[in-house]
Amino acid sequence: MDVTAIIDSLNDAQREAVSAPTRSMLVLAGAGSGKTRVLVHRIAWLIKIEHISPHNILAVTFTNKAAKEMRSRVEDLLNISARSMWIGTFHGLAHRLLRQHNKEAKLPDTFQVIDSDDQLRLIKRLMKAMNIDDNRWPPKQVVWYINAQKDEGIRAKHIQETGDLYQQQLLVIYRTYEDLCQRSGLVDFAELLLRAHETLRDNAELLAFYRARFKHVHVDEFQDTNTVQYAWLRLLTEGQDNLFVVGDDDQSIYGWRGAKIENMFNFQQHYPNHLLIRLEQNYRSTGNILKASNALIACNDGRMGKELRTDGGDGDLISLYSAFNEQDEAYFVVERIRKWVAEGNLRSDIAILYRSNAQSRQFEEKLMATGTPYRVYGGLRFFDRMEIKNALAYLFLMLHKDNDSAFERIINTPTRGVGAKTLDDIRQLARSKQISLWQAMIELLKAGHFTPRAENALKGFVQLINSLGEQAEDQELYEQVKYAIEKSGLIEFHKKEKGDKGEARVENLEELVNAARQFEFDEDNEENFSELDLFLAHAALESGDAQADDFEDCVQLMTLHSAKGLEFPLVFMVGLEEGLFPSQQSVDDIARLEEERRLCYVGMTRAMKLLYISYAESRRLYGKENHPRPSRFLKEIPAEQMQEIRLRASVSKPVSTNTKAKVILGTSGRYQLGQRVRHEKFGEGVVLQVDGEGSQERVQINFANVGMKWLMLSYAKLEVV
Ligand code: ATP
Ligand code: MG
Repeated sequence: MDVTAIIDSLNDAQREAVSAPTRSMLVLAGAGSGKTRVLVHRIAWLIKIEHISPHNILAVTFTNKAAKEMRSRVEDLLNISARSMWIGTFHGLAHRLLRQHNKEAKLPDTFQVIDSDDQLRLIKRLMKAMNIDDNRWPPKQVVWYINAQKDEGIRAKHIQETGDLYQQQLLVIYRTYEDLCQRSGLVDFAELLLRAHETLRDNAELLAFYRARFKHVHVDEFQDTNTVQYAWLRLLTEGQDNLFVVGDDDQSIYGWRGAKIENMFNFQQHYPNHLLIRLEQNYRSTGNILKASNALIACNDGRMGKELRTDGGDGDLISLYSAFNEQDEAYFVVERIRKWVAEGNLRSDIAILYRSNAQSRQFEEKLMATGTPYRVYGGLRFFDRMEIKNALAYLFLMLHKDNDSAFERIINTPTRGVGAKTLDDIRQLARSKQISLWQAMIELLKAGHFTPRAENALKGFVQLINSLGEQAEDQELYEQVKYAIEKSGLIEFHKKEKGDKGEARVENLEELVNAARQFEFDEDNEENFSELDLFLAHAALESGDAQADDFEDCVQLMTLHSAKGLEFPLVFMVGLEEGLFPSQQSVDDIARLEEERRLCYVGMTRAMKLLYISYAESRRLYGKENHPRPSRFLKEIPAEQMQEIRLRASVSKPVSTNTKAKVILGTSGRYQLGQRVRHEKFGEGVVLQVDGEGSQERVQINFANVGMKWLMLSYAKLEVV
């Protein structure tokens, strides 16, 4: 492939960034202005033109999907495999570093990474052993505390003891947890980052090795780095002036997880020699989408300030749909999708973006009902979620006591003190007598086989399942579900879980009650199944292999957070209601509210051609019926950019994309693209474009000292270097 491919599809500012001589750079620009594209082309440029080995390049992004995409785009541009390039997420790369240098990292070579569930469980066990009151110090808050310290690079030993008893206890737990992890070779997510930082910081040789190796360091979505991540980048690049970051302060959406927008300001001080490049032209979205996004984000204070503009047309207005309720909203969205697909468009060009995972169910059901393939990203489909499967297993076991997989799933979830030995005994008897686990348990109970503790636990379980059956007689379906998730202890169990994850699980469980309420029962079903039976069958059908496979053309469902960096011709942003988006927790806190607004900006700027925004006048979510007000964000979008959709109004036809005319580059006989030249006055530079013929022939050169210039060849005295 020709060199021109690397720069011919870039504008001047992008080209300047891509072809600049090695130095630190900050590309500060709004959504869709080509930041990620610049990063990818920069890497290709370094390899192809500067002959930097992929081995010497480091690139970091935030999601695995983005990392994979970046690698494949570089490979496409260069037509080579860039396997030796370190490209990945912060966590992934930190892990790699620790594995390769576990001795220097003071970790056993068998160290294990634990996820946030494991971490919480560990903390609980630890606190129990320490006899600490978990009402006063809820384990999930303890986990928050520990992770927040680690994100700031703070170890227990760095924390000053204060007279405050509450703080003092947290500190003691932190210290004990650190010791325990160290002794057992366990590494949580926050520890990965902190340990990777410390390992480089404290091992001069290793640091020297990696500084020499990574001649060029790149970061996408820099606005979302936290303190430790930035410190790690600084270590790697100190004194080298080779850190290339791209970001957008308006898209910072992880403040609640310790991301530091200040890193963008810090960068400018720590790398005084950096080149600042602003990109203003947006290539992604129509004029109307941009005007609306600009107006919305202008409501935030303290921005670095930038406007998006496009050379393309205004396109269609943004469509606003006010739904009667959440089902009507889903129905509307799926109908529009069907029409759009019928017009010959791809399903994979469509995204449904929502604030909270629990919102996906309505859309999943309607998509399923119409046979529209879809995929849920960054989370499982509703009926595949662990907490949902657990809850359903209770109901299933109540109906079908001999179902061993339901039994296995819930016999000790939530934990009720049924140990491994007890379970083994049950399994063994079941195997030898060819009976179900449930039956084996009953027989062993009758024989008085268990220790008093295990016997108690199992009897409680039997009672629970039986009581579900008794209640079912005169309860509505949704009441049965509600009863099951409460009496099983599942709700309580997840409520105690760490931060957002536990909360999301509780929300999903409450949404399950909702699903049961809306379930349409066909009383005339021939087999005479009960309503519960049919509901469980429905759930089972919706989970499992119905999700579109990797290569199938399917509609994309994801939260606004996981849509960062992506783009789609048609976007539905749903659930624009006070208390949902912006979320309830953010409405009284200006900083959090601004972060929600940035999230809304991220959502809107994912849309290329068409953007639909919707809200419901009545919404049943998390098991409660609400009559929310429309989101304040709707008022912040200028009315001129919006049109209200009434039911049965015709779909506006998508406007044709405005494809940017490509600059076709010629090659001069004398000068090749990428060639190094020296100019008497301007010094050294690189040839970027050659244009015209004969006496009119001119070249565009990016000079190390003075930037880009067009020069007439007949006048300029250029020397090939
Ligand atoms: P975000 O802030 O959302 O991550 P971004 O700044 O990283 O956005 P990109 O994803 O790199 O933007 O680019 C947005 C779209 O514009 C992509 O489809 C990209 O290919 C296209 N694009 C960027 N620059 C140009 C250009 N000079 N000519 C044509 N298309 C371009
Ligand atoms: Mg990007």
